[in-house]
Amino acid sequence: MRKPLIAGNWKMFKDNDQALELVRELAPLVEALEDVEVAVCPPFTTLADVSRLIAELGAPIGLGAQDVYPEREGAFTGEISPPMLKALGVDYVIAGHSERREIIGERDEFVAAKVRAVLDAGMTPILCVGETLEEREAGKASAKVEGQLRVDMAVVEAGEIPGMVIAYEPIWAIGTGKTATADDAQEMNSFIRRWLAGAYGEDAASSVRVLYGGSVKPDNASELMAMEDIDGALVGGASLKAADFAAIAKFKA
Ligand code: PEP
Repeated sequence: MRKPLIAGNWKMFKDNDQALELVRELAPLVEALEDVEVAVCPPFTTLADVSRLIAELGAPIGLGAQDVYPEREGAFTGEISPPMLKALGVDYVIAGHSERREIIGERDEFVAAKVRAVLDAGMTPILCVGETLEEREAGKASAKVEGQLRVDMAVVEAGEIPGMVIAYEPIWAIGTGKTATADDAQEMNSFIRRWLAGAYGEDAASSVRVLYGGSVKPDNASELMAMEDIDGALVGGASLKAADFAAIAKFKA
């Protein structure tokens, strides 16, 4: 059985003190939740202290990073390596978030290198894929997602699939307040799982968690999280409020 995952992407919000405060608020709200994994992905600057606080509180909160550079070490000014994250107790690393693809110009080959590097360091990639509004309206949503999966996952072996998380995040739904309908999200998540089955076999495909992300809020999470192929959510804006984030997690608990 796939254990659902609700992961919060804090993006470029929260300084160190604010991040610690948010974890302190969140910990008691999620401590009794069973059958669901909760994780937060704070900014790099707060990871060390957030990691220590989670351990100190004994809180059932996983730790994720929002990005990584796909080299172990070297002359890469300003970048952070997978072993550096691993040493801080990081479990999950987001790779290929649409904000990095669209704003910073990251390409699929680079995303694939990140996926590989995260797996090599013993962490779980959360690989984000999704289409623009234009692509959806042109009927090209699944072709776009398939193209991303083909390149981004070319570096992954079948045996590594259970150690991956994939997040379907339609770009037009991120931070916009527009959410995919539960049926549309289910359809794409199921398409992703079928693609995985074709590429890696049924066992691998049925073991991987496929999340939905895009303006998930407490008031729309119930319908989305009830869908068969939606194994949780990658939550941006609503993860910055402990009560909202915990409320979303409860729909999978
Ligand atoms: C995200 O950043 O991955 C995301 C889904 O953001 P939001 O929930 O704010 O749309």
